[in-house]
Amino acid sequence: MKRKLLSILVMVAAAQAGAQVTQDMINKDATTTDSVLSWGLGTQGQRFSPLADINTKNINRLVPVWSMSFGGEKQRGQQSQPLVHDGVMFVTASYSRIFAVDAKTGKKLWKYEHRLPEGIMPCCDVINRGAALYDNLVIFGTLDAQLVALDRKTGRVVWREKIDDYAAGYSYTAAPLIAEGLLITGVSGGEFGVVGRVEARDPKTGKMVWVRPVVEGHMGYLNGKENGITGTTNATWPGDTWKTGGAATWLGGTYDPKTGLAYFGTGNPGPWNSHVRKGDNLYSASTVAIDVKTGQIKWHYQNTPNDGWDYDGVNEFVTFDMDGKRMGGKADRNGFFYVNDAATGQLVNAFPFVTKTTWATGIDLKTGRPNFDPNNRPGDPTASADGQKGKAVFSAPGFLGGKNQMPMAFSPKTGLFYVPTNEWGMEIWNEPITYKKGAAFLGAGFTIKPLYDDYIGSLRAINPKTGKVEWEVKNEAPLWGGVLTTAGDLVFWGTPEGYLKAADAKTGKIVWQFQTGSGVVAPPVTWKQGGEQYITVVSGWGGAVPLWGGEVAKKVNFLEQGGSVWTFKLMK
Ligand code: CA
Repeated sequence: MKRKLLSILVMVAAAQAGAQVTQDMINKDATTTDSVLSWGLGTQGQRFSPLADINTKNINRLVPVWSMSFGGEKQRGQQSQPLVHDGVMFVTASYSRIFAVDAKTGKKLWKYEHRLPEGIMPCCDVINRGAALYDNLVIFGTLDAQLVALDRKTGRVVWREKIDDYAAGYSYTAAPLIAEGLLITGVSGGEFGVVGRVEARDPKTGKMVWVRPVVEGHMGYLNGKENGITGTTNATWPGDTWKTGGAATWLGGTYDPKTGLAYFGTGNPGPWNSHVRKGDNLYSASTVAIDVKTGQIKWHYQNTPNDGWDYDGVNEFVTFDMDGKRMGGKADRNGFFYVNDAATGQLVNAFPFVTKTTWATGIDLKTGRPNFDPNNRPGDPTASADGQKGKAVFSAPGFLGGKNQMPMAFSPKTGLFYVPTNEWGMEIWNEPITYKKGAAFLGAGFTIKPLYDDYIGSLRAINPKTGKVEWEVKNEAPLWGGVLTTAGDLVFWGTPEGYLKAADAKTGKIVWQFQTGSGVVAPPVTWKQGGEQYITVVSGWGGAVPLWGGEVAKKVNFLEQGGSVWTFKLMK
């Protein structure tokens, strides 16, 4: 009796404090429908909502209820996935801004604009992908490589911590991950010879708990003490090349409470010219599974050994059940879709999800290694007549990837992954390069080119067991936003042309679309409040395509910038 009274008192106290966000709530995020507490609508990253209030039968009544502008003179790419808790939406914007908004009305409650120094060096636009909620805090990362924790009621700064030196090319754009009571983040800066790593902090104070570099040779730390070197120094990197090895963990990670592992994809090894770093270059272009309790790498799987095409393997590892086992699916920038055992990393399936993969003819399921086409590796510049430009090759996918940062969705109802894909290639060649702090560390030149006249993007429903594309919806411009799927048998995604679209999850038939006024390069979310299901997406064209897209950039230069949040519900 006494214990029961005590638990009631604890519950009342929690309610009065405004329902502080706990790890337990975050672990249940995928199945609780009144909030969106994590990037991925659940730390597994499935982006599946059990809500079916909005469905294929009534979606023709889906209408906008509010829109809010991020304002400001500076716009550019808006890639944020909003969070929703206690009727308040937390949404980040370009140039390291974050807004708190009344989720029902769109009324702005507060905003925080991070003061950015002149010399920031984001490689691929001034974007941000979202925040994390924990306790009474909302936490996000900035373009000058800091983490900022704000009181979610007032927007007041509670703590601020530096990740690394922005002048050396470090920045931060991903949504932080909360796992086992820790704030888990990576680093951006893979084009500047940084050292990729994953870090865990106390989310309430920002104090570091562990650091795990993802380039072999570098020391890890746990509670301020040495915690073992990553891999074996020089086993897969020659000389000092590991010291500027890249492998940036710039898209953040996923976490599965069932395995206790955080899964981070790692970016390209530095520099792009692969001839100066002969070897596999672990753990670049890989999936790395880290034991959240110890900060040790439990397993790794390398998607592109000795990458020479900027095939960052950062793509999200989404855990799901297949044949009664916990697996992880990953649509890699290199054009292959991988299914790995989530507990051991063992490769279970791999198949191309784009029409052309020139660099490898397939993935050997026995060895787990790609069957390289040696003729499609950009040539060694030192072998050329003047030593300045290696043999150029045409490779597909181009370095912007069969899939890039835009997160896919998985429906346990249909068993399908909904993958935003792009069909493009590149002419690429290598050049000599030496590392210089704060300078681009590529040693390569390139031009992105479309493969087909009529489309680049394609939203594909992919069966992870068979590799079959069950349906696809082609798009003229490259897809750059993420995907949401629901128990209402709907798939939502945005296009650079400005549309938020919905298709029947089983057939791919377009059942609804809305023009947001600028390009959509962010993933939609959904939640339920006051008995009604809401859908929200951020609109604002930008990101890597207009900056790096070569011939494709010319095709999309008519698209207008913007910066707003759109929220929809069913008309009564
Ligand atoms: Ca890269």
